[in-house]
Amino acid sequence: MDYDMIIIGGGPAGLSAGLYASRANLKNLVLEKAEAGGQIATTSEVDNYPGSPKDATGPVLSQRMKDQCEAFGTEFRKEECKEIVKEGDYFKIVTNKETYKTKTVIAAMGANPREIGCKGENEFRGMGVSYCATCDGFFFRDLDVAVVGGGDSALEEGIFLTKFAKKVYIIHRRDELRAVPSIQDKAKANPKIEFILDSVVEEIKGDGLVQSVRIKNVKSGEESDLPVDGVFVFVGYYPSTELIKDMATLDESGYVLAGEDMKTNVPGLFVAGDIRKKVVKQVITAAADGAIAAVLGEKYISEHFE
Ligand code: NAP
Repeated sequence: MDYDMIIIGGGPAGLSAGLYASRANLKNLVLEKAEAGGQIATTSEVDNYPGSPKDATGPVLSQRMKDQCEAFGTEFRKEECKEIVKEGDYFKIVTNKETYKTKTVIAAMGANPREIGCKGENEFRGMGVSYCATCDGFFFRDLDVAVVGGGDSALEEGIFLTKFAKKVYIIHRRDELRAVPSIQDKAKANPKIEFILDSVVEEIKGDGLVQSVRIKNVKSGEESDLPVDGVFVFVGYYPSTELIKDMATLDESGYVLAGEDMKTNVPGLFVAGDIRKKVVKQVITAAADGAIAAVLGEKYISEHFE
């Protein structure tokens, strides 16, 4: 099956690329292995995207983005991309179901949640250890939970968890939070949230289900057990560059190097969203990347193929 543009990843970057590709009359396809939305598909609230009303949860906003680009002609397939190969002027895309040929590729695979790497984390995954408050928060009604991390995700999802949990402990490895001040203020004002600073989780313990976390104060060296029923991990993300790591130039952390034109070192291969090395990773910057990649992709096609 031949396309002008294949977009890999159905988060805000990929869906914006699809919208702009369709509006430029390109035959385009979005490949997404899971549900549309990427990281925001599991985000409780997205209240810093312009025009996104209070009721726009991550899944609602994602569905709206998908509906909008499909209405303009973007095809959407729930398939997992396994391989991207440049063959002459074209790319061959192999998924778990099909093989496609395309003039351009927009790599918008985003990023995956990082693990703490402590003892018990893998053992209790799905048994109290979670990386998604929207998915699992409901199971912790009237229970105590720990949130690990000090960034925007940890605090926002911590606030969301107070809708269910009796108590939310936010455990952060420094005495200064990374989250923006507005989110910090909201979290600090929430009576159900207690911060445990300068502390790391050494071990997650339990018996079938999580029962406690072993915490170490990094300044005093003191260790203690905190009884909790769940541990929500929000310690950042790593880029999903596996498919293009041998083609595109990456930085030392694995993010793709591309300029404001979203062009990689491979002609016809563009990137968009959190997979790209950039300063501000937000829904709005991911959407902007997608739009730019599609516009520049269209220009590339008209210069090289017509
Ligand atoms: P982040 O900003 O990278 O923060 C990760 C947090 O986890 C940091 O506080 C970090 O500590 C801590 N951490 C990292 N590795 C750790 C480890 N091994 N053990 C314990 N703690 C560890 O990640 P994020 O909060 O997921 O945000 C990712 C991006 O999305 C950011 O650009 C953020 O602004 C954006 N975002 C925005 C919103 C919003 O605007 N509403 C919501 C969510 C995310 P240190 O601070 O000590 O490094």
